[in-house]
Amino acid sequence: MVRAGRFALLTILLFAVFESGQTSAPGDPSDPPPANQPAVAHVFDVRAAVDTYLAKMPPGQRARSDAYFEGGYWLLLWDFLSTVIVMWLLLRFRWSARMRNLAERLTRLRPLQTVLYWIQFIVVVSVVTFPLSIYEGYFRERKYGLLNQTFGSWMRDQMVMLIVSVVLGAILMVPLFGLVRRLGKSWWVCGATLTIVFAAFVTLIAPVYIAPLFNKYTRLQDPRIKDPILSLARANGIPASDVYEFDASRQSNRVSANVSGFAGTLRISLNDNLLKRCTLPEIETTMGHEMGHYVLNHGYKGLVMNGVLVVIGFAFLSWSINSSLVRWGEKWDVRGITDVAVLPLAVIAFSLYFFLMTPVTNTISRTLEYEADMYGLNTAQQPDGEANVDMLLGEYRKLDPGPFEEFIFFDHPSGRTRITAAMRWKAEHPQSESAEEVARPIFDAK
Ligand SMILES: [Zn+2]
Repeated sequence: MVRAGRFALLTILLFAVFESGQTSAPGDPSDPPPANQPAVAHVFDVRAAVDTYLAKMPPGQRARSDAYFEGGYWLLLWDFLSTVIVMWLLLRFRWSARMRNLAERLTRLRPLQTVLYWIQFIVVVSVVTFPLSIYEGYFRERKYGLLNQTFGSWMRDQMVMLIVSVVLGAILMVPLFGLVRRLGKSWWVCGATLTIVFAAFVTLIAPVYIAPLFNKYTRLQDPRIKDPILSLARANGIPASDVYEFDASRQSNRVSANVSGFAGTLRISLNDNLLKRCTLPEIETTMGHEMGHYVLNHGYKGLVMNGVLVVIGFAFLSWSINSSLVRWGEKWDVRGITDVAVLPLAVIAFSLYFFLMTPVTNTISRTLEYEADMYGLNTAQQPDGEANVDMLLGEYRKLDPGPFEEFIFFDHPSGRTRITAAMRWKAEHPQSESAEEVARPIFDAK
């Protein structure tokens, strides 16, 4: 059926060439097609083309990917509930108050007390929630074939992550509690601002100072890949002179890339999975997408949009902490909002807020991702390569969800949405078709 459709398309293409009386080859770029030639675009069946791509994944693998992704919906709930339970236990049995008391005994300096409390807090919480983390991050990922690490190597990454959290958390907590103490009731306005600035700071330093703790970054040498990427970057006004490769295969087979930082920290990176598993058109369309994030200032736009959520979240935080402490403050031995022992309560309020905001944060992200897809299609002009990469991402993201499901749970567009956009683009640019990409099997038949 689909093959017949493609054959029909070819016939009509040929007809169009003959009818318009052109003598040159149809692919000659110096020869623009006549304006009255929309017939080709209308014949291309976008929906059928999308279904052909979706059918590239064997049914068994599709079922596994769906099960993996849908399991993630439940993990959102379990993560939220387990956080609330652990935080409640810390308050109810006054463990939080005890950690504060210990910090106060060790030093009289308040900023240092905050740091000492924070270290105890993050270590205790990591230990108590470890069974869930290990299931979620190790056993579940292994079960679905999405993790390449041994347990030891995975644990090493967890420990590094813990140390990074201790340091970054302390950098945020000390001034945050300082603000609460100094500003009284209106602390949450400045608290939200500080948190947004902190988020911007972390986003800025992460690619250069945090990412290399987990993966090795090296300059990409192969000119067959590097040159087209740098050409694409120049064309899009991105001042990069190097492309970096990182060994993501250490952790998984997932393909990814990014353009991060600005000025001195600007870098284009792509992972070894993308290099190993993808063709040049697929790499180009992926880099076009990442360049779109950069050129369209998605980092800043995301920060502003999520910043609005953070401000509202802090208002909710302030209100909920004050009203809870009136009722249970004495029972929990939490002296007030200026007391570091209040942290578990703050975590409960923030987790509840962001749990309920999941569809909003996902929609902010998904909208920007869709924009980057459009940018990538326009700049790389590889709709078939794009569709193949979208299929590869379908290894861990459900390919064909319902619209409501996509709205709530998807932080990137689904495979069907992305491939539909690519095929729609291709319908308007029939000359962009790549027969090799269309025919390329991207999954082993299992
Ligand atoms: Zn993206």
